[in-house]
Amino acid sequence: MALFDSHCHLTDRAYLASLDEVVQRAQDNEVKYLLTAGLNIDDSLAAIKIADKYPGVYCSVGIHPHDAKGMHNDDMDKLEQMSANPKVQAIGETGLDYFRNYSDRESQEIAFHNQINLAQKLGLPMIIHIRAAYPEAKAILLEHKYYTGVLHCYSGDELFAQWAVAQGFYISFSGSITYDNPQLKQIAKKIPEDRILIETDAPYLPPVPMRGKRNEPAYVKYTAQTVAQLRNCPFEHLAHITTRNTKTLFRI
Ligand SMILES: [Zn+2]
Repeated sequence: MALFDSHCHLTDRAYLASLDEVVQRAQDNEVKYLLTAGLNIDDSLAAIKIADKYPGVYCSVGIHPHDAKGMHNDDMDKLEQMSANPKVQAIGETGLDYFRNYSDRESQEIAFHNQINLAQKLGLPMIIHIRAAYPEAKAILLEHKYYTGVLHCYSGDELFAQWAVAQGFYISFSGSITYDNPQLKQIAKKIPEDRILIETDAPYLPPVPMRGKRNEPAYVKYTAQTVAQLRNCPFEHLAHITTRNTKTLFRI
C-alpha cells in the first residue's frame, strides 16, 4: 500500500531541524510519495533542492497569491527554467485568496493569469489555491479554458466542485475534512472516485487527532481514513485510488 501527500510545504522553517526525520516518518507510515509546493521564487528553488535529495519527493514551482505583490517581470522565465528539473511536476501554487488579502487583488489576478499561461505553454498541471474567491477564479479559468490541475485544500461549495470536475480538475481534501465541516464532508462523499486527491498542506491544518500539533506528511493517513469512512470504502482502496490519481495528474 502507498499513500501520496499531494501537497505540503517541506521548505517551512518548522522542519529546518528535522527534515530527515519528517521524510522518514512519512515513509514509515506508507506515505511513499509527497509533493512540496512552491510559494515564490526562493521557496520554489528550496523545494527543488529538497525534492532532489529524497526519493519519492516531488515539487511544484510557483507564486502563491499571498506572494503575488512581490512578483517581478522575469519571474515567469525563472519558473520556466526551474521547471526543466525532472522533479518539478506542476506549476503552483497559484490562484486567488480574497480571505487574507496579503496581496492586492490586481496583483493576484495578474500572477494567476501568468501562471495559467505558463502551465499551458509547458503542458504542466496547475496546483490551484482558492479562498473566498471562487466566482472570480472561475471567471479567470473560463477565459483560459486550460483545465489541467487540482483545486488544493478544497473549501468551495458543491456546485463549484461539480463544475470543476466536469472540466477535468481534481479536488484535493486536506485535514480540514476531519473537522466539523458537514458541507465539505458531503462533497467528499459525491466526488467521482477518479477525481479525488488527499493532502496535508503541512505544516498547516493538522487533522484530527493531531490538532494543535505541527502537521507533517505522515498524518495524511488520518485524512485518508476520514474520506474512506465518508465514502464507505476500505482504507486500502482509498489509498490506492488517491495515489493512482495523483500519479496520473502529476505524470509520475
Ligand atoms: Zn499550500
